[in-house]
Amino acid sequence: MARSARTRSPAPAPAQQVSVWEDDPEPGVRVTRPLPDPAKRPLAYNFPGRAPTPGGAPGTASFRYWTAAECLRRGADFWAPRMPSGNWQPGASLRVLLDEGVDLNAYYDRRALNFFHGPSPSGTVYSGESPDVACHEMGHAILDSIKPQLWGAASHEAAAFHESFGDMSAILSALQLQSLRTAILQDTGGHLYQSSRLSRLAEQLGSAIRAQQPDAVNPDCLRNAVNSFTYQDPIQLPQMAPAAQLSSEPHSFSRLFTGAFFEALAGMLTAKAANPSSPTEQELLTVSQEMGDILVAGARQAPVVSNFYAQVAAGMVQASASKNPGYPPILKGVFVRRSILSLQAATTIEALHQSVAAAAIAPAAATGPTDALDTVALPAAHYGLDQPLLVETPSQPRQYFAASAAADASSVDPASSITAARAFVDDLFRRGRVDYKGIGRPEARLEHGQRLRTHELVRETGGVRLRRLLFDCGLRHS
Ligand SMILES: [Zn+2]
Repeated sequence: MARSARTRSPAPAPAQQVSVWEDDPEPGVRVTRPLPDPAKRPLAYNFPGRAPTPGGAPGTASFRYWTAAECLRRGADFWAPRMPSGNWQPGASLRVLLDEGVDLNAYYDRRALNFFHGPSPSGTVYSGESPDVACHEMGHAILDSIKPQLWGAASHEAAAFHESFGDMSAILSALQLQSLRTAILQDTGGHLYQSSRLSRLAEQLGSAIRAQQPDAVNPDCLRNAVNSFTYQDPIQLPQMAPAAQLSSEPHSFSRLFTGAFFEALAGMLTAKAANPSSPTEQELLTVSQEMGDILVAGARQAPVVSNFYAQVAAGMVQASASKNPGYPPILKGVFVRRSILSLQAATTIEALHQSVAAAAIAPAAATGPTDALDTVALPAAHYGLDQPLLVETPSQPRQYFAASAAADASSVDPASSITAARAFVDDLFRRGRVDYKGIGRPEARLEHGQRLRTHELVRETGGVRLRRLLFDCGLRHS
């Protein structure tokens, strides 16, 4: 006889769950997830104030909070086992400020992840409500902990790799959701390297920016990891260009590396799948985790030099061998096709991999060079300064030959660290991204417009120091 409801002992309360965006508010797919603990260690977050009651609808502060908390927790849990220190650059806990005022942007400034709100044709957009944007910013914080030397490096490729790492972090964090893996494999017929809501990053923020500046972003998102950009020396590129073209601007140039990464990820999935024409979501999960390891290994061992992309790529090819003997040819093929590695460099990596020299290099390569970057004093009268400008140059020692390719397939001789720094600084001033802080002749300053400043000037003995303030996520030109 069935027991009556009256005598039944109370059922255990279900673990509390929360409804959040799966990847971005514009595609608008919602998923139910366990209530996250932002303060969990390692890689804890600190959201000021009391957590709102879960259960709010999209558009409410509660929904925004829990969407950000869930994706940031998931992303940090993905990276944590790959982080040697287990800490953020600012310490054990990282602040998250979900609404710092009006802007179509978000940034990481070594103190917090900062998000904003702004107008769009569909209403007010909150950048912190997009898992794509939140996990991009978190990616900056992760890479800053792994590779703090990149923060101050006056280098196009170092800055662009930071942006790419943000986008790669958004993609890899999204892939930790089973529901998203299943949906993307369905949407793409198992061919991951196709435009999908996984490859299309920050669709909603992209729409809002597009309404103001149509050529500043892709037609269907902020940036797409499916693209056909190939390497050109950023020193030779224009400092700004419409989204359809590559420029030396870090977000623009980042798309080349992100495209190569996404293409390599798709190739690895095909190699891994028991049935290559129909990979499973479990195989996609495994490949995403292997790619996380490969990416961190590549970034860690890479010396901060002018051709940083080639250095990371070479490290990734090498690191991939320990995962699957089928991976190095895939990564090498993608990086050569994109001209991030020259044919000669790719061959050298292979020879090195098979030689005894690799064993000697291996211990240093695991952690990468820790040398501080050289500071040089650049002439700065043309920036409106009456003292030399002190900048950190991409000047770490190189361990082996890695170079990108020119259009004729020959290796590009890397620019000297001083040439690379000068070109980077020229572009920063030309784009109006430097806060003069009152230094220099007012009439000669390049402070036009209301752009978010990424760098500031600080007086020091013997000159004026260029100091980074933040990494932002947007492609806004003004
Ligand atoms: Zn960014």
